[in-house]
Amino acid sequence: MSNANHSEFLIRSSCLCSSIKFEIDVDLSKPPALISLCHCSNCKKFTGSVFQTTLTFLGTSLEFTSPPTTLKSYVDRNQASKNPLTRQFCLTCGSSLFCIDAKGEVESYLGLVDSVLIRESNTTDADDDVADGETNRTKWKEVGLEGLGRPWLEFYAKDRVKWCEGVQGSVKAPTKPGLEGNPPFESRVRPEGWH
Ligand SMILES: [Zn+2]
Ligand SMILES: [Zn+2]
Repeated sequence: MSNANHSEFLIRSSCLCSSIKFEIDVDLSKPPALISLCHCSNCKKFTGSVFQTTLTFLGTSLEFTSPPTTLKSYVDRNQASKNPLTRQFCLTCGSSLFCIDAKGEVESYLGLVDSVLIRESNTTDADDDVADGETNRTKWKEVGLEGLGRPWLEFYAKDRVKWCEGVQGSVKAPTKPGLEGNPPFESRVRPEGWH
């Protein structure tokens, strides 16, 4: 896998019943792009797991590949961070899909991912796949979920279940950035050499 010099990805995801399919075009070197875990009690409830595995990006990076007619929203006003969040899920299968905050940041979940493509601009390798509608100067290469790299930041590590070690080497913030002396927002950027 050779994603060390690449930070632009096209991620294709869907819910369990495939009623909702979407694409995320994200550059992991630019905030608010972030791959993280959250151990807070509300993320546990929303995902039904003991932590949430999250990709954060701007809402403008998201495109539905068909009208999301089964998308339902729940406004979560009881966040530990005091920031209300709109949590969205599929009405048909119940998959957790998105979490949207007041600044327009969107989170989706790594467990929904079907395909991860790396953008390889100006490559001369004619054997690479070319996505529909792209010029022949932009090539895409499937790298799978692991191609995105590991989560590098964990929120609400104070609420992590004891038998879960978390991700080796990640920054483990007790709560959220900016709260209780946690690293500020800028430090969400993927550390150099992290994969
Ligand atoms: Zn569904
Ligand atoms: Zn959370």
